[in-house]
Amino acid sequence: MIQNKPLNNKFVASISLQLMVVMTTMVMITAGCNNEQRQQAGSSVETQKPLLQVPQFDADSAYAYVKQQVDFGPRVPETEAHAAAVAWITQSLQQWADTVLVQDFVTRVYDNRIFNGKNIIASYNPGSKNRIFLSAHYDSRPYADHDADASNHKTPIDGANDGASGTGVLMELARQLHLHPVSRGIDIILFDLEDYGPPQDTQTDQGSDSWGLGSQHWSANPHQPNYNARYGILLDMVGAADATFPLEGFSMYYAPDITKRVWETAAAAGYGDYFVFEKGTYITDDHYFVNTIANIPTLNIIHLEPGSVNGTFYDHWHTTSDDITQIEPATLKAVGQTLLAVIYQKSF
Ligand SMILES: [Zn+2]
Repeated sequence: MIQNKPLNNKFVASISLQLMVVMTTMVMITAGCNNEQRQQAGSSVETQKPLLQVPQFDADSAYAYVKQQVDFGPRVPETEAHAAAVAWITQSLQQWADTVLVQDFVTRVYDNRIFNGKNIIASYNPGSKNRIFLSAHYDSRPYADHDADASNHKTPIDGANDGASGTGVLMELARQLHLHPVSRGIDIILFDLEDYGPPQDTQTDQGSDSWGLGSQHWSANPHQPNYNARYGILLDMVGAADATFPLEGFSMYYAPDITKRVWETAAAAGYGDYFVFEKGTYITDDHYFVNTIANIPTLNIIHLEPGSVNGTFYDHWHTTSDDITQIEPATLKAVGQTLLAVIYQKSF
């Protein structure tokens, strides 16, 4: 993912085009909330219903899922390590989810080569109309183009944090959903080809469509005809020690109510040091394409650190040192436990 430049013409034009859709969506969300509140107020049975017990997110299990991905080697599309990761992630999810499908697609990367991509989608209660989705990318970047050592700039990265951490958290979440079934529909969508944007030295302001190729494909061609979800949550770089997740810009633009509720849920669960209630910058990540193409309000839990060496992301972003030593189970726990609270306790 890259930091968006808010004054870029393309950005402004894109926002204007989406404004009507966004306003309509926001009205629909508000209407939905009011309706839900009315139903609860009018039904004593509903209000007396005990809250579901929130399962305990197992951070050691999530860590093991992150490490296994890294152990395959960099999951760069069209490599053996990537194929091995797809097979392992898919087989793992098949143990836990009601249905798992691999969405194959063909796409053109920034230098015009044609790649075969695979989005992995695990679903719970596939017949339910009341759905949310949770997502991350599982591919890793082919270029360590922000490495301090320029000779590493063409080296693929382990992507322990950038890619594997979000996928590892969602795999543990998938396991918990199997152990503690819920009635609403949940889709776990693991996007491919998020991080195949052009190397830093060739990037231009027009390059943002080269990122998020899996989410662009899925947003235009969802795995089910007429697929809809009430909202989506994206995870990206959720494993570093002392990570901070501010309120990312596009999340607050397209999904402000859900974003605030997730951050409030995190604080109530004791994770307010991670989920800081401060406005973050705008990041062109998979959620941007889901918001603008699929029109599903989607937020991004992403580690932002304006004081870092690269000025936006954590210090090891897009370097050869984004390896397993950067992963801290306590951070995986903060994110995973927050998601479980959203699903089991808050039910929004
Ligand atoms: Zn990245």
